[in-house]
Amino acid sequence: MSNVVQTLSIIKPDAVERNLDGQIKDIFLNNGFKIVQEKKIQLEKQEAEKFYKVHETKPFYNDLCAYLSSGPIVVMILEKENAIIANRELMGSTNPQEAAEGTIRKKFGISIDKNSVHGSDSTENARIEIDFFFKS
Ligand code: UDP
Ligand code: MG
Repeated sequence: MSNVVQTLSIIKPDAVERNLDGQIKDIFLNNGFKIVQEKKIQLEKQEAEKFYKVHETKPFYNDLCAYLSSGPIVVMILEKENAIIANRELMGSTNPQEAAEGTIRKKFGISIDKNSVHGSDSTENARIEIDFFFKS
């Protein structure tokens, strides 16, 4: 049975700043993802805090939110068979140094904080994150 679903992807400020958004979008397209919607925006710090609220108790929370709101990002709804897991695999480990060959974070990530991309981690969070950016 098919399980075509949607997930939320963000090309983070470090990648947009290096003009990598075109290359990263091509990687998604070449791996069978459809880009259903996309927009380039810059978040206010308070919006980044809301987006990353699940991490509010973590020591890196403040820096993370400052970073995500530090420059333009590209936000996309991606669609594919098992898109949430497929995107997590294509992104690679949170720490680019631990990411597998061929993953986006291995190729472009600078450090654990500047790791170039975000991807939803569950069906529930994909819905919440898509609504966060695209609910009209
Ligand atoms: N992060 C960080 N320091 C850490 C762990 C995470 O700066 O020690 C940042 C990193 O940018 C990561 C984001 O916080 O992408 C969210 O962390 P999570 O564990 O959810 O990783 P992800 O789902 O992005 O792989
Ligand atoms: Mg996460």
